[in-house]
Amino acid sequence: MNSPVNQIKERLTIEEVVSSYIPLVKVGNTLKAKCPFHNEKTPSFFVSNERKSYYCFGCSKGGDIFSFVEEFEGLDFKGALKLLAEKANINLNDFQVENTDEKDNLFKVMEEATRFFEKNLSLNPEALKYLKSRGLEENTISEFRLGFAKDEWRDLVTYLVGKGFSHEIILRAGLIKKKDENEKNYDRTYDRFRFRIMFPIMDSSSRVIAFSGRYLGPDKGEMTPAKYLNSPETPIFSKSEVLYGLHKAKDSIRKNNFSILVEGQMDLLLSHQIGFKNTVATSGTAMTGEVLTKDKNVSNLGLVRRLSPNIIIAFDGDKAGLSATERASKIALNLGMDVKITKLQEGIDPADFIKEYDKEEWKKVIKNSKHIIEFILNNILDEFKSDPRKIGKLIREKVLPYVLLLQSGIDMNFFLRLISEKSGISIDALTQDLDTLSLEQKNNFKNNETVNPFIPSKEENLEDRERKILNYLIGMIFWQKEKDEHNNELIKIIKYLETILNQDLYTFLLNNKINKEELVFKTEEFYSNKEEGFVWGDLTDMLKELKILSLSKKAKDMENDLNNIDVFKEFNLIKIQIEDIKNGRFNFE
Ligand SMILES: [Zn+2]
Repeated sequence: MNSPVNQIKERLTIEEVVSSYIPLVKVGNTLKAKCPFHNEKTPSFFVSNERKSYYCFGCSKGGDIFSFVEEFEGLDFKGALKLLAEKANINLNDFQVENTDEKDNLFKVMEEATRFFEKNLSLNPEALKYLKSRGLEENTISEFRLGFAKDEWRDLVTYLVGKGFSHEIILRAGLIKKKDENEKNYDRTYDRFRFRIMFPIMDSSSRVIAFSGRYLGPDKGEMTPAKYLNSPETPIFSKSEVLYGLHKAKDSIRKNNFSILVEGQMDLLLSHQIGFKNTVATSGTAMTGEVLTKDKNVSNLGLVRRLSPNIIIAFDGDKAGLSATERASKIALNLGMDVKITKLQEGIDPADFIKEYDKEEWKKVIKNSKHIIEFILNNILDEFKSDPRKIGKLIREKVLPYVLLLQSGIDMNFFLRLISEKSGISIDALTQDLDTLSLEQKNNFKNNETVNPFIPSKEENLEDRERKILNYLIGMIFWQKEKDEHNNELIKIIKYLETILNQDLYTFLLNNKINKEELVFKTEEFYSNKEEGFVWGDLTDMLKELKILSLSKKAKDMENDLNNIDVFKEFNLIKIQIEDIKNGRFNFE
C-alpha cells in the first residue's frame, strides 16, 4: 500500500506548503523567499517544485515538505505528518500505526486525560457556571477542550490505570505526583491537578502536551492552593517552545500579519471568541529571547515571529502587568519584532474588558496600541510633567535601552526624533547618552550575509580550493543529469573526474558525506539564468583547474624526495603536464 507520506507528497506541492507559511517570489523558474530559519535581508531561500525540496544558502537548511513543517512549527515528524495529512485530506487512521515510542504513549495519556477532564466538566454544573460567568460560550469551551479536575486525590490516576496506562507513563506525563521522590510504591501517588478548571496546552499540530489548571475550590486562607498550576516540563512539553492557543492562532497571525500576546487563558479565550483569533497567551509557558531553544527547537516567540514580525502586547494594566510587558517587549525586540503595547486601565485585564464592553471597543484598544518606546515615554511624561530633570534621567534609564534594541538604523533615528520632540531634549544629547549606553551594553549582532560559494578566492590553500571546485563540479554534474540532455558529455566528465579522484564518484560522495542535493541547488541558483555555452565553458575550466590542482599536490608531495632519480623524472613529467594544460592542451575526452 502507498504510505501516507507518499500520498501526502503526491497531493501537496512544496510550493503550496511553503507559501502557506511565508510569501514566495517567482524569479525566472525559481521560487525565492527570505529564509524563515535565519535572519536575512536578501532572500537566499529557494524552493524547487521539480525536486519537491527547498534549500537555504544562508543557513544550509534544506529538505522536503515534512522537514519544512517540522522545522517551521517546531514539531517532531509525527506532528508534521498529522498536520500535513489534515492539509491533504488524508485520514491517518486508514494506515497501520507503526510501533509506538515513549512520546506516542505520552501523547496518548494526555489525550485520554483531556477527554476525562472534558467529561467531568460536562457533568459539573458549578464549574460550567463559573466559566459562563466569565463570559465563555459553549463553543469556545468545547473548541479549546476545557475540562475539570474534581476535588479528589486519585480520580484521574484510577481512571487512566483502568484504561491500561502504566503508572510510569502517567508520572512521566506530569499528571500525578509521588508523595516522596524516592517512593517506589505507585499506590502512594496522587493526582497533580485537583479542584481545578483544566486548560489543555497544545502543540501546533493540536496534540495536548500539558495542562494549566485554575483552582476553583474554596478559600482556605494560607492553605489555599496556588491559583494557577501548570504541568512540569516533560519529554513532550517544553515551556519555551509553546504558547497557549498557538495551534488556533497561527493561520490568523499570518493572514492579519500581526499577533496579539495576552497573559491569561481567559484573555485568550474571550479574544478568540469575539474573532481576534490571532491571539496567543503566555500562561503556562515561558518566553525566551532566542529563536532556538537549548534543544535546538524553535522557541514559542520565534515561531510567532516567523508568522509575522508584528506583535501587540496586551497585558494587565497594573504594575505587575507593566513589568511583564517590559520583559516580553525586550524579548520580542531582541527577536527583531515590531512591538506595540495596548493601554488598559489599571486593574483591568483583556478578559474583563472584552466581557464588559464589546468587540468594537476591543478593536479600538488594539488600534490605539503604541510602539513600546512611545508607550513608555508617554507614561514617563504623564507621570513627571512638572519635573524635567527627572524626565531626562528616566528617559536615559527606561527608554533609551529600548532604542538600542531596535535592529534598524532608520527606526532608531525615527524614535530618537520622536523622543526629542515629545520631551524637548535635543537629539544631540540623546545620541550622546545612547552612545554611552551602547558602549556599555549593546550586543554585536553577527552579520549573516552570504557570499557566492563558487568563487574560490586566490588566497585559499590548495585543499580548500580543490574542495570548492569539486563541490561545483558535483553540483553541476547532478544538475545536468536531471535534465537528461547531455548524457554523453556527462559520462565523459564523470569518468575523467573519477581518474582524478582515484575512485568512483558515488563512493567519493559517500566517503566524504557530501550532500549532492545541496550542491545541485547552489549550482542551479548561480547558473540557471546563464547561457548553455557559458555553463559548459565554466565546467571545462573547473575540470581543468581541478586536474592542475591534483597534479600540483602530487608534485608537492614529491618535493622532499627529488634526490631519488625516479621521483625526479616523474616530478618533471608532472610539471610538463601542468604546463601543457595551462597552455591549452586540455581535453577530458
Ligand atoms: Zn536560512
